[in-house]
Amino acid sequence: MPYIKEQRKETISVEADWDVGGSTTWKHSTLLREYAHGLKEKKIIGSLCPGCGKVIVPPRNICGRCHRKMDERVVVSDVGTVTCFVISAPVIKGKTKVMGMDPVEMGLVAEGERVISVYVKLDGADSNIDTELIGVKPEEVHVGMRVKAVWAKEPQGKLSDLEAVEPLKD
Ligand SMILES: [Zn+2]
Repeated sequence: MPYIKEQRKETISVEADWDVGGSTTWKHSTLLREYAHGLKEKKIIGSLCPGCGKVIVPPRNICGRCHRKMDERVVVSDVGTVTCFVISAPVIKGKTKVMGMDPVEMGLVAEGERVISVYVKLDGADSNIDTELIGVKPEEVHVGMRVKAVWAKEPQGKLSDLEAVEPLKD
């Protein structure tokens, strides 16, 4: 079975605007580009493992569980469940960056508010994505909370198109 390291002797890396409180470089792959293209259409793409049937978002080349190639793509729901969360100290404009973005400048929170970082397991996925939770008071957040994606007004095929999640209203 060919492994990625045999196919690609060198690791190619590019800067991406998805850093968490500092400069982060993502191992570049066409998969991440494919994922971002999907976001432009408000589609969240994952890869499906033919071995164990797990769906991983964003897509991966090789299943971390059974090491099979994951060539098949599936679109998962933009609704999911909070599996983990962290609540920040009150944010200060120009000083706090979350995922490379200034949450005050983006209008996600007002100055002095707290940022709620969450792991969300989207319906149809077996992995978590990390994002921000908005539209809820910090004391109301809980594991198991149902949330829905908040999309950029004009998605551009960037990782930041998926801005945040908000509580799912039924
Ligand atoms: Zn697998």
